[in-house]
Amino acid sequence: MIDSRDMKQPDWAEVERALVIMAHPDDPDFSCAGSAIQMARQGIEVTYMILTNGDKGNHNPLVTRRQLILMRKEEQRKAADLCGVKDVLFMDEEDGFLRPTPEIRKRVCREIRRIRPQLIICSNPDRYISGRGYINHPDHRNAGLIALEAIFPAADNLMFYPDLANEGYLPHKISQLYISGAEETDVEVDITDDIELKIKAILCHESQFSDLQAMEKGMRERSGEKQEDGSMRHFERFQQLIFRPRARQK
Ligand SMILES: [Zn+2]
Repeated sequence: MIDSRDMKQPDWAEVERALVIMAHPDDPDFSCAGSAIQMARQGIEVTYMILTNGDKGNHNPLVTRRQLILMRKEEQRKAADLCGVKDVLFMDEEDGFLRPTPEIRKRVCREIRRIRPQLIICSNPDRYISGRGYINHPDHRNAGLIALEAIFPAADNLMFYPDLANEGYLPHKISQLYISGAEETDVEVDITDDIELKIKAILCHESQFSDLQAMEKGMRERSGEKQEDGSMRHFERFQQLIFRPRARQK
């Protein structure tokens, strides 16, 4: 069990905009909807960036790929609305084949330079096996890798993509990175008061669950931790990287 006393609390005092970069529709809701809810409530503008079109997330032969893509976008928009998220960007890479190509790195870099977030949340690029005995979806790893490679060294370096700079997308350095699904977490967001809303957001992704009730029950059990006084609390934990502002060049 994780001892909360070792955990840092989030410091969002300087955060005005946050960007969540994930592979599939529903990934933000599972991994960080509680944090997104709290940031939005504090007036932080939260944007979700979904890298793939989610076109493999279905086992119903009556639903076409095209229909599924539209359904999943709609589900993600609905979930984001519930959480107070400002915008959802769909990058429309093919589900299941996400790769850290130069093309997608540049597209993500452009959005980082456009939105200029102080904080980014992404998935863990190192996680091959999920802690609960599952193979982690390769898109989750590659989404993490794409995010990291866009943040550093590309987003903040004028020598990368001078054409973007010419279009007005100037270099931008974030100050905080939260990695979800990390082995070593060091910051935690207590989402106990928001767990009901988080579950509601997850349940917006109706196309993904054959049994909504079982899903809801499993979610509650997995995320809750029994405290010494017997109460249950819910947390989202991340590995946190803090970046200092770049010293001005003479
Ligand atoms: Zn996913």
